[in-house]
Amino acid sequence: MDFFDVVIVGAGHAGAQAAISLRQQKFAGSILLIGKEAEPPYERPPLSKDYLAGEKPFEKLYLRPPSYWEGNDIELRLNHEAVAVDAAARTVRFAGGSQVQYGDLIWATGGTPRKLPVEGGNLPGVYAVRERADVDAILERLESAKRVVIVGGGYIGLEAAAVMTKLGKKIILLEALDRVLARVCGQEMSDFYEAEHRAHGVDLRTNAAISEIVGDGIGGNGRVTGVRLADGEVIAADMVIVGIGIEPRTAPLLDAGAAGANGGVEVDEYCRTSLSHIYAVGDCAAHRNAFADGAVIRLESVQNANDQAKIAAAAICGNPRPYVATPWFWSNQYDLKLQTVGLSAGFESTILRGDPAERSFSVIYLKTGKVAALDCVNRVKDYAQGRKLVEARAIIAPEILADTDLQLKEMI
Ligand code: FAD
Repeated sequence: MDFFDVVIVGAGHAGAQAAISLRQQKFAGSILLIGKEAEPPYERPPLSKDYLAGEKPFEKLYLRPPSYWEGNDIELRLNHEAVAVDAAARTVRFAGGSQVQYGDLIWATGGTPRKLPVEGGNLPGVYAVRERADVDAILERLESAKRVVIVGGGYIGLEAAAVMTKLGKKIILLEALDRVLARVCGQEMSDFYEAEHRAHGVDLRTNAAISEIVGDGIGGNGRVTGVRLADGEVIAADMVIVGIGIEPRTAPLLDAGAAGANGGVEVDEYCRTSLSHIYAVGDCAAHRNAFADGAVIRLESVQNANDQAKIAAAAICGNPRPYVATPWFWSNQYDLKLQTVGLSAGFESTILRGDPAERSFSVIYLKTGKVAALDCVNRVKDYAQGRKLVEARAIIAPEILADTDLQLKEMI
C-alpha cells in the first residue's frame, strides 16, 4: 500500500490550497491530492458567473497551471473517490478498493448539491451548479432552451438568472421563502436584488413552493417540461436549475468516528477533527467562528476554504496558529458587484449608506450596537474600509455611519 506523509481528500479550493500552503511552508514530505472530478483544481465561483456566460474559457479557471502539481512534487490523482477512512490504521480506501496510508489526512470534500425532495427531482433536464460537468451539461441544453426555471433565490440561483437573462432566456426564479437571499442578507438587500431581477425581465416569485417537476414520456419519466407549484399551477420550462444549498460530504469521516456538527465535521481552531491526525477544511468543516459570536458554523466561501487550508498546513508543519480570519464574500449579478465582509446573521438593526436607487450603496449590520458586517453594492471603498470596523466591532453612531460625506476609514 502506498504511504504519503499527507493525504488530502478533495481537490477543490480548500484541498488545493492545503497542498500549496504545505509546500509554501517548506513541508518536505510526500503529498497526495485526491479529486473525484476529472479536472485539476479550478475556481468554482465562475461556474455561475463568467464561465456560465461563456466569457471565460475553462483553462483560465485553473487555480494553478496543470504543470504546477508535478513541479511541486504533489501527486494529483483525479477521478478518485475516497469512500472510507480507518483512523486507527490511518488508511483511506477508494471506490474500486485501492487504499493509501497517511501520516496526516486533510478532509476537503466540499458538499453535494441538495436535490429537490419532490417527484421528478431527478428528471433529465434538472441540473445543479457545482462542478464543471454540471455547467457544461447546462450550456449544452441551454442552446435549445427558451424558458428556464431556477429554483432557489440564493447567490447561485440569482447569478445564474442574471447570466441567462443576458443570454436571452426567459427566466422564472422560484424562492420558497418570502424574500431572496433571506439566509445571508437583510431586507434592504433582498428588496434591491428582487427589483433588479424583475427590471431585467426575470419572473421572480417568492413564497413559491414546488410540489413536482413535470416531465414528458410515460409516467412522467422523460425530459422536464415544467414545474408544478404547491397551488397547482404548472410553469412550463425547457430546463430546471436547482440552487438550494449543499449537503457537506462527510459520511466516510463521520463513519470513521469523527464528531459532526451543523451538518459538517467538527473542527477546533487548528482545523483538527476529533480524530488524531485528521483535519477538515472548507465547506465541510464546522468551526467555532468569532464573527458569529463563537457559534459553531460552516462557511461556504473561497475565503474560508483558503484560510482554513493555510491553518491546517501550518499545524501539520509544526507551526500551529488559530483560525481567526475575517469572513468575506462576493457576488456578481448584471453590472452589480456585491462585496460582503463580516457575518450579518443575528443582526439587530441595519443602517443604509447611500441610495439603492443610484445602484451604489452599503448596508451596515449592527449586533448589540457594534458593526458586525457590511454588504456593499458597487461600493468598493466601503467594503475595503468597512473591514476594519467589523474587525474592531466598532461602536459608531448610526447617523455617522450613514453619512456618505464621511469615509468609513475616518470613523475609527
Ligand atoms: P469544493 O471547492 O467543492 O471542493 C471539494 C472537492 O472535493 C470537489 O472537487 C469534489 O469533487 C471533491 N470530493 C468530494 N468528495 C470526494 C471524495 N469522497 N473523494 C475525492 N474527492 C472528493 N464562494 C465565494 O467566496 N464567492 C463566490 O462568488 C462564490 N460563488 C460560487 C458559485 C458557485 C456556482 C459555487 C458552486 C460555489 C461558489 N462559492 C463562492 C463557494 C465556493 O466555491 C466554495 O465555498 C468553495 O469551493 C469551497 O471549497 P472546498 O474545497 O471546501 O469545496
